Amino acid sequence: MISAGHVGPLELLVIQPTPFCNLDCSYCYLPDRQNKRKITVETLEKTLNWVFSSGLVRQPFTLLWHAGEPMVLPASFYEEATLALERSNVSPFTVTQSLQTNATLVNEAWCDLIRRRKIQVGVSVDGPDFLNDRHRTTRKGGGTLDRVLHGMQMLRDHNIEFDVITVLTSASLDYPDELFDFYIEHGVTSVAFNVEEIEGPHVKSSLSGSGMEPRFRRFYSRFIDLVLASDPPLRVREFDFARNSISYHQQPNARTQECRPFAILNVDYEGNFSTYSPELLGLSSPKHGSFALGNVTQDSLESVLAMPRFLALDDEIRRGVDLCQETCRYFPFCGGGPPGNKFFENGDFATTETLSCRLHKKATFDVALDKLERMKAMT
Ligand code: SF4
Repeated sequence: MISAGHVGPLELLVIQPTPFCNLDCSYCYLPDRQNKRKITVETLEKTLNWVFSSGLVRQPFTLLWHAGEPMVLPASFYEEATLALERSNVSPFTVTQSLQTNATLVNEAWCDLIRRRKIQVGVSVDGPDFLNDRHRTTRKGGGTLDRVLHGMQMLRDHNIEFDVITVLTSASLDYPDELFDFYIEHGVTSVAFNVEEIEGPHVKSSLSGSGMEPRFRRFYSRFIDLVLASDPPLRVREFDFARNSISYHQQPNARTQECRPFAILNVDYEGNFSTYSPELLGLSSPKHGSFALGNVTQDSLESVLAMPRFLALDDEIRRGVDLCQETCRYFPFCGGGPPGNKFFENGDFATTETLSCRLHKKATFDVALDKLERMKAMT
């Protein structure tokens, strides 16, 4: 058994307000995104009480509304949720609320709530229509960019800052200039790139296969050249992370958040919870059974930490991180990679390289190192 003091502290609480999404993106990993059920205020209160009495809250953390489109629920629900959070938070620490949205449902009520409650916003958009509408579609296959841009404009009109997350697919890699121009044209100041991953029901990525890695590196290198020449600057999460890691030796040999038990707590709309990669919640494997480890209405953290099912999962994930540390020179920068990617791609957590880490970690790190060395040589 692992004691409660040896897990956490909680850094990220992911709560699924609904599994439903009003869009139907081709690369989505959510297995249940047609399900319109919603979390109740009662389940939410039980979740928050569980969290604050668990011993996991030992520092400030972020509550991320995600894993379904959070704006499917009205802004008034989150007003109630915020009051519930204030009532339950018996800790001395601040909780920052954040939501990841497709922005198609932004309205006045949402803008008002986001501003008053200082909620951080991430918008998912994949660039110009010929890229975004290829994968980010309605259930009838229609494009979504017009509605996303309307939502982004409303946020800007209310002086709400937001980050953008773009999923890169094979099609994106030929268009670094067009993507850059898109962000500038639409007032985006901060972008994060995810790569199309093999996750859950999405079992094939357009980025698999030979020739993709050089294409990805060319794309990313060109994009960063544009970024470094931009004024005002466009921030890129991957580049900033690599630059800080290289310049300030941040994260030396630290395990990534997704590899540390209960640094992340994922809770679904019924109160079932998991830890490690959020994408594991709602899924199972023949070897480990359900990745949901318990329910906030009946299972304490101590009972989960004593469960053979949790211990076997934790052991396999730890062995995967140890293997990464022993074999991969990128480990000090990467921290061992998301267990979810290892499981979905390699079928086992006790493994190392994935498509995701080849592109999202190794290639982005190499490009950043190259750019920084060139900049240094010129000074
Ligand atoms: S880059 Fe890949 S192989 Fe290297 S430490 Fe990260 S996950 Fe492991």
